[in-house]
Amino acid sequence: MIKIRVLGCSGSKGLYGGKVHRPATYLINGNLALDAGALLDSLDEDERLGIDHILLSHAHLDHVADAIMLPEATFQQRTRPVTIYGPMDLLFLLDDLYENCYAPFHNADKIKIPGENDSPVQFENLRAGFARKIAGFRVTPCRVNHPSIAYGYLLEDRDSALFYSGDTGPTDEMWSLLSAFVLADPHKRLTVFIDIKFPNSLADLALVSGHYTPQLLEVDLKEKFVCPENVRFYATHLSPRYSELEDEIHDIAIPGQPPGSMRLVVQDEVYEL
Ligand SMILES: [Zn+2]
Ligand SMILES: [Zn+2]
Repeated sequence: MIKIRVLGCSGSKGLYGGKVHRPATYLINGNLALDAGALLDSLDEDERLGIDHILLSHAHLDHVADAIMLPEATFQQRTRPVTIYGPMDLLFLLDDLYENCYAPFHNADKIKIPGENDSPVQFENLRAGFARKIAGFRVTPCRVNHPSIAYGYLLEDRDSALFYSGDTGPTDEMWSLLSAFVLADPHKRLTVFIDIKFPNSLADLALVSGHYTPQLLEVDLKEKFVCPENVRFYATHLSPRYSELEDEIHDIAIPGQPPGSMRLVVQDEVYEL
C-alpha cells in the first residue's frame, strides 16, 4: 500500500486567508519524502528519524528547502544516512551546500554514521526513464516541462501506483509514460498528483513558467492520454492567491469520467492508495 501524508501541497508558502500554506512535501509510508519544501514543519523527532530517503523533483526552493535540513536536524541521533535522490544539477547544488555549511561541524562533532563517508547524507543521481528500487518502490523518473531539469516520478508497489508530476506545464513525455503504464497493466490502480498552479486567465504566465492551468490540463488529457477514465486525478501545487482556481479545477472534463472528478490534494490529509 502507498500511504501518503501531505505535509505541504501549496504553490506558495505562508499565511493566506488565515491558513498556513506549506510547499510541496509528501511523506510516503513514513520513510520516503517526495519533495522537501516543508519537511521539518509538522513532524516530531521520531517521525524525522524515520525518514531515510528523500526524492526531489527539481531545484526550486519550494521543493527542496528542507532536504539538507532533515539530516542536519537529526544527525546526532542517526544510525544510517539519509539518501537524497534527484537530477544531477540539483544534487551538485545540495552537495555544495552541505559540504560548505554543515559538514565542517558535523565532522567536528566526530559522530560517525555507518556508510560510505560516515556522513548523515548521501546523494544518488537519477536518470529519466531508468527505474530504480527505492524504499521498496519501483521508481521511474520522467522529464517534465519546467525550468531547470525537472522530474516527475512514477512510484509502484505490487497493487497500486502514484504518479507525482512535480512542477510541470504541458508535456508529452509524462503522458506517454502514463499511457504505456496503463496499457501494460490495466488492473493496477493509478493515482496522479498533478501541478495546477495558475487559473485559466493566466495561461501565458503558466506556459512561460512551466505550470498547468485547468484548461491546459484538460487539453492534454484529451489529446495525449490514452485511457484517463481508469485513473484518479488530484490537483496539487495551487497558488492560494487565486480564489477562482478551485472552481475551474472542479470544471475540468476528464474523458470517460463524470463531471467534478478532478479532486484536490489537501494539506495534512492522508491518502491510502
Ligand atoms: Zn518549480
Ligand atoms: Zn513549485
